[in-house]
Amino acid sequence: MAEGGNPAPANALRASVLVVEDEAHLAAGLKLNFELDGYRVVVARSLREAGAQLVQSAPIDLILLDVMLPDGDGYSFCKQLRDTGHYLPVIMLTARSAAEDRVRGLDSGADDYMPKPFDLPELLARVRSALRRSGWRQSDPTADGQQATLRFGEAVIHFDTHEATAFGKPVRLTQLELDLLRYFAQHPGRVLSREELLERVWNLRNAPNTRSVDNFIVRLRKYFEREPDKPVHFVSHRGSGYRFVADGGGL
Ligand code: CA
Repeated sequence: MAEGGNPAPANALRASVLVVEDEAHLAAGLKLNFELDGYRVVVARSLREAGAQLVQSAPIDLILLDVMLPDGDGYSFCKQLRDTGHYLPVIMLTARSAAEDRVRGLDSGADDYMPKPFDLPELLARVRSALRRSGWRQSDPTADGQQATLRFGEAVIHFDTHEATAFGKPVRLTQLELDLLRYFAQHPGRVLSREELLERVWNLRNAPNTRSVDNFIVRLRKYFEREPDKPVHFVSHRGSGYRFVADGGGL
């Protein structure tokens, strides 16, 4: 049974990562390191190859997605994935570190981003964290007494089916947006610090940069607030964090 080689048919036990990266040495380095860490790794050098691998090498559990690729950019690929109902975690690998590029990545539906050159242990930790979150998605949210549907203002969010509407129109939410909403819903009226949110929702402890949280709040306000610049549901507390108020619109 256990030969020295690869215990191949263990897809159910080993998470599969699709690395979309056109720089050959970088792709090879990622493949090697992720394989050493126990993952099944598939490499694509272009968006066209990535699309093909998603089908050929299914199931893929997570995508590491470069931004600049020979046949297009990772942002549009990610957006296209979300638009076609693919909710698997996507981590953007970006050489760009400007805030607007990070925001663009997150806006396109990516769950996280990692600026190049990156720290391998940190990347592995972020992948584990993203996979944990997506595993949580697969479990029945009602099984342990968690709320399956969240209603506030003009918003209805079904955590079990990922369906959400705001002002009567459907809203597509990423896994991380759902996780953040769920955490807010579990702690209504309490001011939650960025550090707490990063630790409990992102699984990042002592994160050097708490800006990710702010980017996500901007998105939630854009989806669910009648006036995103005068939020009544996702309320800022200067210097301390954010508070979720379900009936904020009623007063
Ligand atoms: Ca590239």
